[in-house]
Amino acid sequence: MELNYNSAAELRAFLEKEGLGMRKKYGQNFLINPAVRRALIDALEAEPDAELWEIGPGLGAMTGQLLEKGLSVRAFEIDPGFARILRELFGLRPRFTLIEGDVMKTWPSQPAASYLLGNLPYNIAAALIADMAEKKRLFRRMVLTVQREVALRMVARPGSADYSSFSVLCSSVYTVKPLMIIRGASFYPRPNVDSQGLKLELRKDIRPDAYPAVFYPLVRSLFASRRKMIKNNLRSFILSDIIKKGLVASNAGQAAAEDMADEALAQSRIKGEERAEKLGLEAFVSLAKAVENLRK
Ligand code: SAM
Repeated sequence: MELNYNSAAELRAFLEKEGLGMRKKYGQNFLINPAVRRALIDALEAEPDAELWEIGPGLGAMTGQLLEKGLSVRAFEIDPGFARILRELFGLRPRFTLIEGDVMKTWPSQPAASYLLGNLPYNIAAALIADMAEKKRLFRRMVLTVQREVALRMVARPGSADYSSFSVLCSSVYTVKPLMIIRGASFYPRPNVDSQGLKLELRKDIRPDAYPAVFYPLVRSLFASRRKMIKNNLRSFILSDIIKKGLVASNAGQAAAEDMADEALAQSRIKGEERAEKLGLEAFVSLAKAVENLRK
């Protein structure tokens, strides 16, 4: 089977011949620009023989090239029709493994790999990256294609409008480097928004276990009402933690949460009037450590 991945017309004809359609709900947009595909694969800088996860291989536009490079590819694809084509194209290659189904459910049981490549479906991109990072499934390097709006959140620095709990989460384990902006014309079907390539390098200066258990839930909750002063968000977080632990949400609980929040802020030298969007990673880490200690 020969497939021309560079031509929208030929891909359309192929899908029709195979009785397949493109499903919007799975964020299916094939990357038909060969220069962009090559640049993304080159950005992986993966040594031959390395283990790689490919998320959403589609009809295999990148998969074939990855296998040619000598990489062992574990490909996660949800669409049964695409999975059938992938098996026909690569099923006999010993370095190819297909994991059929929803990657959000299938990835946790799969063996770790050094690299990850994915032109990610828009509806799961941020959730998948966050889920894997939080559960410490980390890769030496990831090369991702995401919608530009998601990319901006991933590279955002403190104080900018795009800075969010997701920015903090990404920077807690990876250095996020923007690659090229990819215009709609590079995809079939053509999406309405631009995408962006990103390279995520695992940080060597931070041990992933440097974060206390409360770190990610705390960061999310501090950004939940981003216009609120941090002391108010922190008090709500601590109060809900106290309630979860079985203490009643009484006035006593409220007062205890306020005291604990003030103490944690004092210990980590953060002003209660600050907004989460102004704080960098180190500030969140020291606040989380203070909260964790006070909880004990
Ligand atoms: N890699 C191909 C390319 O670049 O041309 C296709 C990329 S397309 C944007 C996203 C792919 O992810 C599709 O093949 C789609 O079926 C698949 N996909 C969508 N949701 C998925 C999920 N939850 N689990 C696994 N694959 C998924």
